[in-house]
Amino acid sequence: MAKDTAARTFKDILGKEHCYSCLGCAIGSGEMELPGGVIYDGEGIILAADPEIPIPGFLVITSKRHIQSFSELTAEEITEVGTTIARAEKALKELGIAKEITLVQEERSKHFHIWIFAHHEWMKEKFGTGISYLRDISAYARQNASEKDIEAVLDAVQKIKVNF
Ligand SMILES: [Zn+2]
Repeated sequence: MAKDTAARTFKDILGKEHCYSCLGCAIGSGEMELPGGVIYDGEGIILAADPEIPIPGFLVITSKRHIQSFSELTAEEITEVGTTIARAEKALKELGIAKEITLVQEERSKHFHIWIFAHHEWMKEKFGTGISYLRDISAYARQNASEKDIEAVLDAVQKIKVNF
């Protein structure tokens, strides 16, 4: 398995620049400061808002170890991932942040992470439903987020932290 070591520079939703060869490792080790902070710091995983896509309630589970697939998780990590997804989903729904979520895990990504994608009404109106629209919705959110939207993302993180 060839490891991609080229560092990537990107701006987070607060406009802060980051440069890491592996974003997942930077998140997992606590090296990267996440917008709104960490929601859940577990034994093997971190739960936080997606640092790059400003959608309230859009969360990401990142493994602390540099792995790619579900099958590489330990039994304890699998349990922790499952419990964390369930708790995140419950918090998003109880807080009224999202009525529906979509989970995505791409083995192609170099570091294991799971998107917990929170759906909002405007997405359905603008793009329709289904996983084929997730990239378009994410790109749209990045290009069109207002200060108020960013505030809503940070506010959602704080509420989920309390509810988690
Ligand atoms: Zn990594």
